[in-house]
Amino acid sequence: MTQQYIPLSIPQINGNEWKYVKECLDTGWVSSVGPFVGRFEEAVAAYLGVEDAVAVSTGTAALHTALLIAGVNAGEEVIVPALTFVAPVNAICYVGASPIFMDVSEQSWGLDVEKLASFLNENCEVRGETCFNKNTNKKIRAIVVVHILGLCCNMDPITHLAKQYYLKIIEDAAEGMGVCYKGKPIGTFGDLGAFSFNGNKVVTAGGGGMIVAKKEKDLAYARYLTTQAKDDPLEYIHNEIGYNYRLTNIQAAVGLAQMEQLQNFLQKKKQIALYYEESFKNLEGITLMPMPDFCKPTYWLYAILLRKQVTVQERKMFIQKLNEEGVGARSFWHPIYKLTPFQQFETYKIENTMPLYERGICLPSSVGMKMEDLERVVRSVKNVLLY
Ligand SMILES: *Cc1c(COP(=O)(O)O)cnc(C)c1O
Repeated sequence: MTQQYIPLSIPQINGNEWKYVKECLDTGWVSSVGPFVGRFEEAVAAYLGVEDAVAVSTGTAALHTALLIAGVNAGEEVIVPALTFVAPVNAICYVGASPIFMDVSEQSWGLDVEKLASFLNENCEVRGETCFNKNTNKKIRAIVVVHILGLCCNMDPITHLAKQYYLKIIEDAAEGMGVCYKGKPIGTFGDLGAFSFNGNKVVTAGGGGMIVAKKEKDLAYARYLTTQAKDDPLEYIHNEIGYNYRLTNIQAAVGLAQMEQLQNFLQKKKQIALYYEESFKNLEGITLMPMPDFCKPTYWLYAILLRKQVTVQERKMFIQKLNEEGVGARSFWHPIYKLTPFQQFETYKIENTMPLYERGICLPSSVGMKMEDLERVVRSVKNVLLY
C-alpha cells in the first residue's frame, strides 16, 4: 500500500513569494540590506500592534539576542519550562547562564503559575533589586516563557510575579504567531519577545526570526547587536561584541509574502483543529488539546494525549504505526532536563511534564491539507487505537 505521506507541518507557498523573490534577484538586493527586510519588519509589527520589530536570521538568534538585551550574564540563572523545544534552553547556555527547569501546567501546557509562585516565594529572595536563588546564591535574571504548539501561557500572574521579583520576561513565541492572550497577540507581553520563521512554523521565511520589545531602546540595541555592533561603519569601529544575525532580503521577501496570507493560514489551522476535535471528542483513550479561557489558540500543531496509563514504549509504537500508514505524527519534545547537556541543572517539582511527554502526539496540521488527508489521519488514529 503506497499512499502519499502526510507531513506534520509544511509551508504553503501560494502568494507573492515568487514575485518578491524575483524582485530581489532582478535588483541584486539579495543580502541583509534591501527593502523587504524593512517591509517584513513593518508587516509583523503592524500585525502585533507594536511600533517596530527587528528581523534576525533565526528564532534561536532572536532568543539569544533577547537574553543579552535583558542583561542575563554568565553565572546567572534563568527560569524556563521543562516542556519545550531545546532552542530557548540552548540560548540560555549561549550567554553562560544556567536554566532552572520549571514544571508546566495541564491547563496550558506552558509554565505552571502556581509552581512558579511557590518556587519564587520559598526558594528566592530579593536583595536590593535583584532576585537571588537561596539554594545556589546565584542571581536569577529572567523567565523565558515558552508558548507551545499554538497555545499560550497565563501571562497576567507570570507578569505579576516577574515584577515582584525583578525578573525580566522573554517570551518565546516561536510557535505562537497569531496566538492571543486575552485578546492581545502573545510576544508583546514580555520585556522582549521572539518569533521564528522556520519552515515548519505558521509563517515561514525559509528561516528567520523576529525580536519585539517593550522599550524602543531595547529594539535599537537589538538592531545594533545583530549587525556586528557597528558604531562607525566607514571606519569599522565596533565598541561591543556583535553578531551577524541579520535576515537576508530574499528571506524577508518570502516572509512578507507569507505574512500577507496569515489570516488564511490561521483560518485553515482552525478548521483542521475543529475537524480533529469533532472526530476525537467522544473517543475513549484520547484527550484533546486544552482550551484555557484566557487563550485564543492558533493550533500550529494539533496535539492529542493518549490514555493516562500509556507507557513511552506504547506511545512510540502508536506513532510508528501512524508513520507506517503514511501519517507524519510526532511525539512532544524529550523532557529537556533529562538530556545530557542539561542534566546538571536545577529542576523544580516537575510532575506534569513527564506524563505530557509520555502521552502526547502531534498530528499533521499543514495549512495545505485536504479533507481526504484529514479523514485519513483520523481513520489511522482510530485504527491504531483499536489495534
Ligand atoms: C522553532 C522554535 C525555536 C527556534 O526557532 P528557529 O528559527 O528554528 O531557530 C525556538 N523556540 C521554540 C519553542 C520553537 O518551536
